[in-house]
Amino acid sequence: MRILLGDKLLIATHNAGKLAEFREILAPLGITVSSAKEHGLPEPEETGTTFVENARLKAHAAAKATGLPALADDSGLEVAALNGAPGVYTADWAETPSGRDFVMAMEKTHAKLIAAQAPEPWTARFCCTLVLAWPDGHDEVFEGHANGQLVWPRRGQDGHGYDPMFQPENETRTFAEMTHAEKNALSHRGAAISALLKGSFQ
Ligand code: IMP
Repeated sequence: MRILLGDKLLIATHNAGKLAEFREILAPLGITVSSAKEHGLPEPEETGTTFVENARLKAHAAAKATGLPALADDSGLEVAALNGAPGVYTADWAETPSGRDFVMAMEKTHAKLIAAQAPEPWTARFCCTLVLAWPDGHDEVFEGHANGQLVWPRRGQDGHGYDPMFQPENETRTFAEMTHAEKNALSHRGAAISALLKGSFQ
């Protein structure tokens, strides 16, 4: 496994919620994060059909454009009763002509569970795949999951995306009802970042 030297990391994301989580998790370790947006990079089209394909697309595009090692995240929600949907299309379910609307996306997810007459608990998991890519084309892949269930009505004000309807296992609160530190300790992104830190930094 290749080790990343130094304490600076480019995160190839335009998603403010994800970027904030990376910053919060990495700052105590002395790792400074910059974003694709700060480097003026365009948002590549996510044409892959798996999390790892999309994370590779984003990481390699950013590493090539900047000449810096770049970390990309592709993540999503897999709902058991919907055969793993929305999965790699999790962000797409929120698309509207005027931007992403996650209240609508959560309502759509709930409506599909009702239409499918899916019995509760509505088990689901968040998945996160991280790809750390170097400008010479090398990459390393890390994964994390958070198991839990979807709840309705949605609860909590904090968090981003589908957080208000996701209750991790062994918890009574949704991700949106937790502090950032509490969510990061249980989340798919937190788990994938732990694997990255074990494997890639010294
Ligand atoms: P992508 O990785 O940019 O394709 O987007 C994945 C989508 O999954 C995000 O836009 C969010 O809607 C959702 N998602 C990923 N991680 C989380 C999370 O931690 N909480 C809530 N929603 C998430």
